[in-house]
Amino acid sequence: MISFDNTESAFAYKSDKELKKAKFLFSSMGIGWLVKLGTRITPWAIKTGLPINGIIRNTIFKQFVGGETLEQTKDVADKLQEYNVKVILDYGVEGIEGEDNFDNAADEFINVINYAATQNNIPFMSIKLTGFARFSLLEKLDAASGEKSGVEGKINTAILNEDEKQEWQRVVARLIKICEAAQKNSIGVLVDAEETWIQDPVDAITMQMMQKFNKEKVVVYNTIQLYRHDRLQFLKDSFDTAQNANFILGVKLVRGAYMEKERRRAAEKNYPSPIQPNKQNTDDDYNAALQFSIQHLDKLFLIVASHNEYSNLYTTQLLQQNNFTLNNKHIHFSQLLGMSDNITFNLAKAGCSVSKYLPFGPLKDVIPYLMRRAQENSSVKGQTGRELELIKKELRRRKVK
Ligand SMILES: Cc1cc2nc3c(=O)[nH]c(=O)nc-3n(C[C@H](O)[C@H](O)[C@H](O)COP(=O)(O)OP(=O)(O)OC[C@H]3O[C@@H](n4cnc5c(N)ncnc54)[C@H](O)[C@@H]3O)c2cc1C
Repeated sequence: MISFDNTESAFAYKSDKELKKAKFLFSSMGIGWLVKLGTRITPWAIKTGLPINGIIRNTIFKQFVGGETLEQTKDVADKLQEYNVKVILDYGVEGIEGEDNFDNAADEFINVINYAATQNNIPFMSIKLTGFARFSLLEKLDAASGEKSGVEGKINTAILNEDEKQEWQRVVARLIKICEAAQKNSIGVLVDAEETWIQDPVDAITMQMMQKFNKEKVVVYNTIQLYRHDRLQFLKDSFDTAQNANFILGVKLVRGAYMEKERRRAAEKNYPSPIQPNKQNTDDDYNAALQFSIQHLDKLFLIVASHNEYSNLYTTQLLQQNNFTLNNKHIHFSQLLGMSDNITFNLAKAGCSVSKYLPFGPLKDVIPYLMRRAQENSSVKGQTGRELELIKKELRRRKVK
């Protein structure tokens, strides 16, 4: 039976000094007003050039980000490898638009793939379509999409004017280039899930790529957010599509990162919220999605991307109940760098294939990612409380004051 209580293995890779820093950071993130203020002021302060880079680099950046450049991620990746923990590289630049920037981002993704291929413990990299596609172009495509267009891989480009059609062709070309490089180097590409109002074209193009690249092995994975009440069905439909069209489904299951934004927009624009009514419903659908995926594990590839202890434990139980070994090649677990080390390192110790999701990028460009981590960790009842307790427990065990 796997236990996530072993803080000695969870934090073996952290020195006393690093642990004390983490304790300070998680304690600070437990102060609601500080996080509220910080998440509002920081993006503005960075933009206006206020001298706060040093503080950020030494605190929240160090905890959650692998480095400013690809090469700088090597130290963390090598350290993780000592504990049989793999890495998913994430070039974490978000919200920077313009055709030249999009081309550069696509090139950087290909660099990441080429680099990952030279390392022993980097089997995957992740991308966001908005890293190389204009958000409002995706919004326009989404608004014109039919109910099942995502799962059927259908994109209604008739809605676009001539310039936009060409723009979309460039997006598709970038994605194909990325997937080709990934296929050549045997690196998995995880396509992140984003906001519901752009997700249909993201799903559709990802399904198209799976159909093109996932014939013999899995190159492309879609992400399914179970905080959406329609996504358990979407998972089942995706599986049926893959079976009928003869390709292998790759799925990364998450709960979802944009809940407040989603609810706010639905209320403002007066449409029914796409989000589950409560946490229990999200949890139930997440665990049902795990059950469905493991029942079909011989025909799909699954990434369990969660910090939820029960969901991770339940996955290992499902594997055992279905006579799969914990190190079955079709399943992988992942947690974000800086969070839930107790899950990652104890899964690795039990023989599971598990990774840290390691974002990297220039400090100013990874600010949106950092602000999401600060917000997610600001609830004392939730994640922060748990992280802080584990860190304190380990410090007590090490007799560090
Ligand atoms: C490796 C990795 C990759 C990820 N990739 C993506 C991605 O591509 N796209 C993306 O959106 N997110 C992504 N995430 C983030 C993820 O969606 C969650 O926000 C985060 O992991 C917290 O959920 P949890 O499963 O870890 O556990 P928990 O802490 O148990 O769950 C918290 C989550 O439950 C849901 N929730 C909380 N309260 C309620 C409520 N009242 N009603 C309904 N639902 C509620 C929310 O989704 C919240 O984030 C990723 C996470 C990991 C670890």
